[in-house]
Amino acid sequence: MKKVYIETLGCQMNKSDTEKLYGMLDFLGYIEVNEPKDAFDADLLIINTCSIRQLSEDKAFSRIGTWGKWKEKNPDLKIVFCGCVAQAKGKEVFKRAHYVDLVMGTHNINEFPDLLKRIEHGEKVYANDETPVPERDIAQKRVKAVNAWIPITEGCDNFCTYCIVPYTRGRERSRDPQKIIAEVKQALKDGFKEVTLLGQNVDSYGKKGDYTDWNLARLLREINKIEGKFRIRFTTSYPTDITDELIQTVIDCDKVCEMFHIPMQSGSSVILKKMNRRYNREQYAEIVRKIREQVKDVAITSDFIVGFPSETEEQFEETLSVMRELELDYSNTASYSPREKTVAAKMVDEFIPDDVKEKRLEIINNQNKENCYKSNEKYVGREMEVLIDSFYERKGIKINTGRTRNNKIVHIPCEKDMTGEFVNVKINGLKTWYLKGELV
Ligand code: SF4
Repeated sequence: MKKVYIETLGCQMNKSDTEKLYGMLDFLGYIEVNEPKDAFDADLLIINTCSIRQLSEDKAFSRIGTWGKWKEKNPDLKIVFCGCVAQAKGKEVFKRAHYVDLVMGTHNINEFPDLLKRIEHGEKVYANDETPVPERDIAQKRVKAVNAWIPITEGCDNFCTYCIVPYTRGRERSRDPQKIIAEVKQALKDGFKEVTLLGQNVDSYGKKGDYTDWNLARLLREINKIEGKFRIRFTTSYPTDITDELIQTVIDCDKVCEMFHIPMQSGSSVILKKMNRRYNREQYAEIVRKIREQVKDVAITSDFIVGFPSETEEQFEETLSVMRELELDYSNTASYSPREKTVAAKMVDEFIPDDVKEKRLEIINNQNKENCYKSNEKYVGREMEVLIDSFYERKGIKINTGRTRNNKIVHIPCEKDMTGEFVNVKINGLKTWYLKGELV
């Protein structure tokens, strides 16, 4: 059997694509191997790239540099460069890495088996279509874990001025609900205890295309009807696409977890407008208030970017103050990184110096830590259900870690590996990023 290794950079969408590739490769007779250390450890090397930041793009090219050297020793080795950088850079990849056999954009993943055959026969192949190649019925080979990531939408129509996703993943499309439901059932049959419905804007599911009689709320209600004990999550939500119906669905459906990931990006309404986000500070705060009022124990997490072109000190302070005021449970933070093709990348005259961006990032990271600690404090003394997702030993103590329904990480000292089990835990302590608990 031939050996394959896939290195995955970036978000859950890429991880999900990698599972799809492994599923196809399994069918084609390949076996998955651990990270190769030399030229003969694998027959096929695939890098699934991310272009959200310049750093990830540089990492992809630096990584395959080593693989290119291996190819000099082992000319039969095949190298595939796929994912978002492939989609965005196209043929330029061959110029920077002549040893690559296949450059495959995100839209061509469904024809990978055919493309692979061609490179196996010695052809150099370029597949980077403008529109997605239709989905085929191919089983996924999921990474063994308790949570299965299930894409429900792909692409994005929002064109936020800093974001490359609409250029690398294309226009928004929703997957067939029956295929999604079948995938959920299969994942549960395979032993997964949680499913996360995934999309760049998961809450715009069904808005356009062939399934407009569906929306995220209906899909959640259908999945909730599936028998058995399991959890349902969904991410990422666009603030103004969160409807009252969706909030009510989270309340009504026992398997749907109480958490929303709603990127805000900036606390300044002026910057939000420049980012082409379709809400202002007050509207975002109102959405948070509404969800908190209705959904008990809900966790609301967010994303923030500092140093967007032209961001003044006062506008940055608005981001800091909104984080403080809304007491968000956790936030992913980043400093602005210009991405080719995007509108903001052309605002060169208004770029913020790197040292200022880094300073601002440090400040909001501290605020984020404070928010997390505060959010965790609320749960000390409470009893919560935890789904265990890993087991390890540190300094002679065996620990199970898992997540509550609202996605809080809990560490539970216990001799027995309980991975995949739902347990009731009394929260008896906390750190910034996690809770401590004991079995009850
Ligand atoms: S909503 Fe904006 S940030 Fe999110 S994927 Fe679409 S363009 Fe990018």
